[in-house]
Formats: sequence, C-alpha cells, structure tokens
Amino acid sequence: MTASQLFNQLDADYLRSTVRGHHRVLLKIPDGLLSHATDIADLLANEGVDVIISANSCYGSCDIGDNLTGLGVDLILFVGEAAMPSLQDYHSIPTANVIIKSSNNIEDVLDQAIPLLEGTTIGLVSIAPYLHHLEKAMAILKNNNMTPLVGKSGRRTVVDGQILGCDFSAGTVLADQVDSYLYIGDGLFHPLGMAMATKKPVVAADPSLKRVIKQELSEMKNSLLKQRYATIARAMDAQRVGIIIGTKLGQSRIQLGQQVKAHAEKKGFAAYCVAANNLQPDRLDYLDVDCYISTACPRLVLDDSSRFAKPLLTPAEFEILIGERTWDDYELDQIF
Ligand code: SF4
Repeated sequence: MTASQLFNQLDADYLRSTVRGHHRVLLKIPDGLLSHATDIADLLANEGVDVIISANSCYGSCDIGDNLTGLGVDLILFVGEAAMPSLQDYHSIPTANVIIKSSNNIEDVLDQAIPLLEGTTIGLVSIAPYLHHLEKAMAILKNNNMTPLVGKSGRRTVVDGQILGCDFSAGTVLADQVDSYLYIGDGLFHPLGMAMATKKPVVAADPSLKRVIKQELSEMKNSLLKQRYATIARAMDAQRVGIIIGTKLGQSRIQLGQQVKAHAEKKGFAAYCVAANNLQPDRLDYLDVDCYISTACPRLVLDDSSRFAKPLLTPAEFEILIGERTWDDYELDQIF
C-alpha cells in the first residue's frame, strides 16, 4: 500500500480533526502498518502536533502497554484499530481510534460466496476495516432471498457484527438462529475462530484478495484441533505449571489466572503465576515449569504455540488435561 492509498482509506481530514488541540500524541499502529507511521507522523506534525511513534507491540485495541511516564503525551492515537469500549474508563489520558476502511468492493466476492452458504438464514460478521460493508452485504443477501442477521456489539466491540480474535460473541449469539455464517474480511484467524466457536459452517469472503473459502476453513479447523489435542497430550506428565497473566490492559485476566492457579494446586500441581507483556519463548522457555496455561490474549495460544518449547494451553484445555472437561466439549477461549 502506498502512502496515498493509505490516506484515501484513512480519512485524513478526520485524522487531522482528531488530533487538533492536542500538544503531544503517542501514535500506536499495528505492525503491518508501521512502515507508514512516519507518513502519518508528518501529516500530524503539519497540524502543529508533536508526535511520538510507539514502537511497542500493537496487537489490537486491547494493547495499551506503553509506559507514558515523563513523555508529556496528552492523546494516544490508535490508527488501524477500533476502540474497545470496556477499556475507556481505564485510560489515564484520552485515546482516539481511527480505523482504516477497506476500499475494495464486495460484490465480486459475495457473488462467489453466496452459492457456498448453507441454508437461508445467515449470520454476518466482520472486522474493523470491513464493517462499513455490512449494510451492503445485508442488502445483497436479501436480494438473493436470504435472511441476514447481525449480532449486537459487546463490551469489547463498537459496531454490531464486529468480531475480535478474542470475542466472537456477535456471531455466537446467533448460533441458534442461523444456518451458516458469512465472514467479510481478510485473514484466516477470525473465520477459523468463528467456525470453532459456533461449530457451524463458515464461508470467508476476502474483498482484498478477492478470495472465498469454505472447505479449506473446515480442513484448517480440523488440523488446528488435532494440534491442540497433541499439545494437551504433551502436557500429560506436567507437574509444575506456569499461569500466564497478560499485563496489557485489555488482556489482563488476573482473577481467572488466580482461579486457575488455585485449581491447579488443588489438583496437586506446583503452580506459579507469571506476568508477561509479550509472550516470548526466549523468556518463558527458561522457567522451571513443565507447561503454561495462558490467560493473556487467547489468540496467542492458537497462533503461536509452536514457537514455545513447552506446551501452551488455554484454561479450557487445562480442564481437559485434568479430566474436568471432555474433548467433545472443547471451547474456544474468549474474553468478554
Ligand atoms: S486480546 Fe488478542 S485477539 Fe483480543 S483484541 Fe487483544 S490482541 Fe486482539
């Protein structure tokens, strides 16, 4: 993406008006867009704003991990991430979010996707850059004699139909009413998560790549479940467990972590709570534990497990390990 393409999708006027009146702004931007951070900083500097670019991680709108002491920042500007309403009261200084809206049209991919949908009542879900397409997608589905349904936004999302890698509730809430789901957006994790969270057919339509997949998703889901089964099996001899507590504001589940610790101790494990901002194998592999149970970002366990020498489990997978949950009752970890 060139800088001018970025600014077309970014709504530069809105960006300017968002920072106007602020003295110093911390610019947070997802890794995939970091190469454009200086373009955005230049644009903001033209408004008379002092900009500091955060080179810390920015995995999602939950990722408020920067220590701002002494920086004199009076606004945190998230570019490319939607707001997370449940965190608004916890910010020590104001935050603003500016979404980058996909400019790709959706007609072509919906033409491909519609014949693959099962039944006629369809749950529609999407992610931040594509949410503005949902209204049009509903109209197209209705024109094809289908009934589209969109679930309400929750504590962590701002728009109806929006899902996150840790919150599929806008889709799962419809599970009893819909025959299948249509995901509009890029990437594979979100539609895969939908398939795991709802156990219903999911068709993923990616307007950027002009790609529609269904069968591949189902195969990926089976393969991921096999990997998870194998990871649980690898942890069977564990006696010492580390319970990871994420220190990013929107990933921190200290209560859950303590519950898991107490539970593990009751079952005879030596259990240790471990706080981490970013989960790094070069740190976690050294601790004298046999496996980890992560209460941080749920996506990390599914996406990054293979990077760690020791098995990395979700809390529900730990329940399977200790025989308190059956494999058939496998549940995707989510934060609501
Ligand atoms: S917890 Fe993970 S999946 Fe959820 S918003 Fe944060 S980075 Fe994304």
